[in-house]
Amino acid sequence: MASDTHLAPNSCSCRSGFSRNARFFSVPGNTKTSWLKPLLQGLGRSGQFAGALLALALCAQSAPAGCAECISFPQSTSQGALVIGKVEPDSKVRYADRDLLVTPAGDVVFGIGRDEKGPVSVDVRRPDGRHVREEIAVTPRDWPIERVDGVPPKTVEPPPEIAERIRHEQARVVAARVRDDARADFMETFIWPVEGRISGRFGNQRIYNGIPKAPHSGMDIAVPQGTPIKAPAGGLVTFAAPDLYLPGGTVLIDHGHGVSSNFLHMSRIDVKVGDRVEQGQIIGAVGKTGRATGPHLHWGLNWFDVRLDPLLLTGIQSGQ
Ligand SMILES: [Zn+2]
Repeated sequence: MASDTHLAPNSCSCRSGFSRNARFFSVPGNTKTSWLKPLLQGLGRSGQFAGALLALALCAQSAPAGCAECISFPQSTSQGALVIGKVEPDSKVRYADRDLLVTPAGDVVFGIGRDEKGPVSVDVRRPDGRHVREEIAVTPRDWPIERVDGVPPKTVEPPPEIAERIRHEQARVVAARVRDDARADFMETFIWPVEGRISGRFGNQRIYNGIPKAPHSGMDIAVPQGTPIKAPAGGLVTFAAPDLYLPGGTVLIDHGHGVSSNFLHMSRIDVKVGDRVEQGQIIGAVGKTGRATGPHLHWGLNWFDVRLDPLLLTGIQSGQ
């Protein structure tokens, strides 16, 4: 587990390590006690008691009513990460030229692109009108080259009429990702949609049959044809098509606040657009439709049009 339990209050905001995996603030109705406990545990692990006590004293001083009075974002994150922060309810939050929805509990979410160098900043207008800017460092990652050979040539260099079809299909998928629903399904702890060997990682530079293509936009998990696919978190089905040219059988699930999952190369689809799905519900089955060399699930994660790494959500659960 990444040790991201830093605590460095600046002005009136309490900055604590809060990644999608840490989930310090996922318990509804936080009290000061429930908020301090994981911080003390985390800081205890890293042997920073003195700093912790000082920081907590400062934080408590500026946050008399507990975490509801705090602004909390991680000090650092990594490329491809989904970041969840905490603000006071009824705050106005802006990130990357976008106004973020804030849940009634004060949760906000945004994504860090694969090539984001950082630091990134989040602007918070508190309910009392005060403005706070949080800066978050972005840790760079290595993006190895991944060679995929034996791909059907017509899917690597499609003829013009096929290229037009691909553009049209991609536009339909892009349109499904613009929605910004107030649902907070993204706050669930994501589970793996299928469990198996990771056969392709997010962000790797892909070379198909010797021809460089766009970086890999998700995570590939190699499992047998027909393996049932579970919804990794609840959400709304916003796209479902059995036969797109490159992605094959495709489903999009919207988890709220711009966060969505996509599942590609499916052999069977059990849901339709407009369906509400719950975490763990079977949405279809693994296949090798579209540009695939064998049966596997491609799981993509997005914050609007920013592609993210699903492995950063599920790393702890899977033990990988
Ligand atoms: Zn893939």
